[in-house]
Amino acid sequence: DGSAPAAEGDGTSPQQVRIELRESGADRSYPIFIGSGLLSWSASFAGLPKASQALIVSNTTVAPLYAETLKQALQAHHAQVTVLELPDGEAHKDWSTLNLIFDALLSQGADRKTVLYALGGGVVGDMTGFAAACYMRGVPFVQVPTTLLAQVDSSVGGKTAINHPQGKNMIGAFYQPKRVVCDLDLLKTLPARELSAGLAEVIKYGPIFDMALLDWLEQHMDALRALDTAALAHAVRRSCEIKAEVVGQDERESGLRAILNFGHTFGHAIEAGLGYGAWLHGEAVGCGMVMAATLSQRLGLVDAAFVARLKRLIERAGLPVVAPVLDKQDNAGRYLNLMRLDKKAEAGEIKFVVIERPGQAALRGAPDALVREVIDACAA
Ligand code: NAD
Ligand code: MG
Repeated sequence: DGSAPAAEGDGTSPQQVRIELRESGADRSYPIFIGSGLLSWSASFAGLPKASQALIVSNTTVAPLYAETLKQALQAHHAQVTVLELPDGEAHKDWSTLNLIFDALLSQGADRKTVLYALGGGVVGDMTGFAAACYMRGVPFVQVPTTLLAQVDSSVGGKTAINHPQGKNMIGAFYQPKRVVCDLDLLKTLPARELSAGLAEVIKYGPIFDMALLDWLEQHMDALRALDTAALAHAVRRSCEIKAEVVGQDERESGLRAILNFGHTFGHAIEAGLGYGAWLHGEAVGCGMVMAATLSQRLGLVDAAFVARLKRLIERAGLPVVAPVLDKQDNAGRYLNLMRLDKKAEAGEIKFVVIERPGQAALRGAPDALVREVIDACAA
């Protein structure tokens, strides 16, 4: 459905990554377009399922910046394009905000062909995708990710969800978009802290899958933080290719897909222990990767030089590398308790993504005593 629009200009013409999902029936494959200036370009949205109506779902921060540009580009493809502004923030990734999407769809008389466009970060993307999965038992949707995290991670792979008061992402569905359009220019307005958080998920793909990416990141970290378009294009493309490869092999996370959670077990403990929102998810993952790499070292899988190298890169991305103290009496015990509550733990046994050797990851348990040593060595 549509090839990458051809363009010239700044030397970073749009690139395309395909995500191939053909198992168990219908073809759910789709393209990811990556480039500069894609939002204002109607060709970015050509060849999608035909529909007279479209709804752009965004939020109060992103819509004022970009919704009008997207609306203009979509007018070539849909007779009626409306914009819905949700409240901004993870706190609003909930049932009542989701319902605002259904309210908007029903009050504009949207039918089963109506296309939803998610214009925002992972919060908007996850909620819009879930709304698309549910509305009239499924309408097409397109991801237009506006954060680095969403461009390299959340918009790809088809996990959609909202939070429940008792747990993050507890209510959701696997539902694939028809297309992902990553316009790198949109990252110019992103706060620096959010950019760094996204870089954590980019760095993640190196140690688990591709050491050449890690080498490249070491050479281009400064360019990425300066929003160099060619550097961003490479980082987003490589991240999407790796995620596409992993998800293509294991769409519903029965095995391999779990390696994408490198750094996330320790990271979730940090997020939960400090109270959600104190550290950004990517910040917790950055520090969590240092901890998981240290665990891999103590298990005899990688050497100290590898851990030091990864830690240095994470630090250069503007991310924390020293684990926060969550409990003055028994810090390691607090981390262990939090990790046992994680939804990835099985019957109380914590599963860690460890680096088996540089560029390859595996899921495994570890003795509490060893994990305590790792936490004590990483915290201050
Ligand atoms: P986010 O969506 O909250 O965006 C971060 C902040 O940046 C928000 O305030 C947002 O309004 C603002 N923003 C977004 N784009 C902007 C831009 N271009 N300019 C200025 N400000 C902008 O956070 P996120 O990090 O993008 O996503 C986090 C969410 O993604 C979490 O809910 C997480 O559960 C989810 N997630 C999902 C998956 C998945 O596979 N579905 C994977 C990872 C994360
Ligand atoms: Mg993550």
